[in-house]
Amino acid sequence: MTKQIMVGAVPVGGGAPVAIQSMCSTHTDDVQATVEQIHRLEAAGCEIVRVAVPDMAAAKAIGKIKEQISIPLVVDIHFNYKLALECVAAGADKVRINPGNIGSEDRVKAVADACRAKNIPIRIGVNGGSLEKELLAKYGKVCPEALVESAFGHIRLLNKFDFDDICVSLKSSSVPITMKAYQLMSQQSDYPLHLGVTEAGTPTMGVIKSAMGIGGLLALGIGDTLRVTLTADPCEEVVAAKRILQAAGLRQDGPNLISCPTCGRTRIDLIPLANEVERRLQTVTKPITVAVMGCVVNGPGEASAADVGIAGGNGFGFIFRHGEIVSKQVPQDQLVDELFREIERL
Ligand code: SF4
Repeated sequence: MTKQIMVGAVPVGGGAPVAIQSMCSTHTDDVQATVEQIHRLEAAGCEIVRVAVPDMAAAKAIGKIKEQISIPLVVDIHFNYKLALECVAAGADKVRINPGNIGSEDRVKAVADACRAKNIPIRIGVNGGSLEKELLAKYGKVCPEALVESAFGHIRLLNKFDFDDICVSLKSSSVPITMKAYQLMSQQSDYPLHLGVTEAGTPTMGVIKSAMGIGGLLALGIGDTLRVTLTADPCEEVVAAKRILQAAGLRQDGPNLISCPTCGRTRIDLIPLANEVERRLQTVTKPITVAVMGCVVNGPGEASAADVGIAGGNGFGFIFRHGEIVSKQVPQDQLVDELFREIERL
C-alpha cells in the first residue's frame, strides 16, 4: 500500500480511489479561458486539474483561477523556483517540479519549506524526454532503471530538507519502458504513483497506449492517480481515463455496455443496434451492465453477467434480464425501446 497525500480535498494513494487528472491547454494567464476549461473538465469527470506555469504572468493568475474553481489545482513548473513560491503563496494545491532542475540547494529548501508550511505535496515528474545527462551517459539510453534512479535523486533532495509529502511519475512515450519503470518504483518505494504515458499521440493511438500502459499497471494494482495524455481537447483525456478505470474494474460511473462482435450465427443487423444503445445509455446513470448480443444460442449465456440485454433472432430479438428471457420475438425496430423500458424497471 502506498502512502497517502492530500491534493486539496482529494486523497491520493493509501487505498483511495484512483483520481482522474487532466491538464489545461489554455494559456494560464488567460484566467477566463482557463476557468471555463476547468469547469468543462470538471463536468466531464476530472478530479484534479493541472495548469502550466511558464512565467510570472501565469503564476500571478493562480490565485484568481483558484477563486473560481472547486477541484484541486496543480501547478506545473520547470526550473524556476520563484514561480513555485508565487503559486504556493497564491493557493496552489500541489506543485509539479523536479527539485534537481531548479538550481542550488537553497532554492530547493525554499520550495520545500513553502510547501511544508501549507501542507502542499510535490509531484516529482520524471520524463524520458528530459532525463539528466549523467543518467543518459550511465545507461546509454532512456530505460526504466534510469527513470527510477532519476526519481530517487529528486526524492533525496527533498528528503534532505525534511520534505516527504511526495508523489512520483515516471513517464516515457514508450509503453513497455513506462510500465517497467512504474513496476520497479513500486517495488522500491511506497510513494503514491501518478500514472501516465507521455506524448501518447492523437486519440486513435493515444487511447490504446494509455489503456495498455495505465490500464496494465492498474490491473497489477499499481497506480494512485492518472492522466491520459492526448493531442486533443483535454475533456477527451478525462473520458478515456474514466473508460480505463471502468475497464480495469476500479470504477463504474453509469452503465457498462458489452456487445458481441457478431459472427456467422448473427441474423439481425446488430451494429446499428449496439450504436443506438450506446448513444441512449449516455443519459443513464444507473451502474448497470447492458448486453447487446447477436444470437439467442450463446447471447444470454455469454452475457449472463449483464443486468439486462438484447439477444438477436432473425429480424427480431429477445430481451433478457440476468440471463433469463423476459420478452420474446420483439421486432428489430422496437428492440431498443423495449430494452430501455426494461432498464427503467431495474
Ligand atoms: S453472441 Fe451469438 S452472434 Fe454474437 S458472437 Fe456469440 S455466437 Fe456469434
